[in-house]
Amino acid sequence: MPNRNTAPQLITTAAVFLASVALAVVTCAQNQDFSKVEIKVTKVSGNIYMLQGAGGNIAASVGEDGIVIVDDQFAPLADKIQAALKNLGVTDKPVRFVINTHYHGDHTGGNAPFTNTGSTVIAQDNVRKRLESGGTAGNGGSLKMEMKPADKAALPVITFERDVTVHLNGEDIRALHFPAGHTDGDAVIFFPKNNVVHMGDDFVRYGFPFIDVASGGSVQGMIAAMDKVSTELPRDVKVIPGHGELSNLDDVRAFVQMLKETSAAVQKGIDQHKSVEQMKQEKVLEPWKKWSGEFIDSDKFIETLDNSLTNHPGDFMKHN
Ligand SMILES: [Zn+2]
Repeated sequence: MPNRNTAPQLITTAAVFLASVALAVVTCAQNQDFSKVEIKVTKVSGNIYMLQGAGGNIAASVGEDGIVIVDDQFAPLADKIQAALKNLGVTDKPVRFVINTHYHGDHTGGNAPFTNTGSTVIAQDNVRKRLESGGTAGNGGSLKMEMKPADKAALPVITFERDVTVHLNGEDIRALHFPAGHTDGDAVIFFPKNNVVHMGDDFVRYGFPFIDVASGGSVQGMIAAMDKVSTELPRDVKVIPGHGELSNLDDVRAFVQMLKETSAAVQKGIDQHKSVEQMKQEKVLEPWKKWSGEFIDSDKFIETLDNSLTNHPGDFMKHN
């Protein structure tokens, strides 16, 4: 059963991040006003910082060799992100590398402006393919978003299949691909010297997660990725979620437990030949309703789990 003690925190987190998440994913933030967005900087550990504005969280390694960032939010925020990094007063050197955790616009929207000011974008092979082609993102059910093909300047110029390591600021910053979780191009980014990890959207704090089943994501892959990461990392690792506040491994474990329990509940319905509509009417996810948000509510998560568990991705485009 979900731990009810964490409910207030979750609701606050959801409220704070809902607007940016929903806008970001559903409309690619075309209509969002970025002029009032401020970049909040949190020191995570050693020379690693977390930046929050609109869209996905950014991790930054800032040091004598320059700057490496993980994800870059939206294009109109690139100047503010650059300014926030400079204001740390650590280095005047530029952002040398941007690593994308996956292809969604609220994590890669700044690729073009960063490329245009000299950064090199690195991502898993499928991130480049999906950015280049555009396509449909969604949960295989009622949640569907058209993604336009990205400009050439927004495409990662270095891609990897399984993993890549960037050796800067005295650290082996490692991006490791986990297949078929939030999308088919997810990477988790490890900062081993500083004991920090950026999970991308395989771990988020806004409630039930968006799983982009239409882009090769699955709940099974998300569970496998977060199970593996949470059993192998040190207990006191600092966890940067794709969205939401700085977290720890207990938060990740609670998230994984919820994914396992809700998957089992929907699988039970599938085994009893229940339709998605029946499961919605019977409110099969009622015991986990504290995770239900405005972006992904219980009904949308039932659709997500059903499509994921029965392998019905909707407008699925597989890239290999
Ligand atoms: Zn995403």
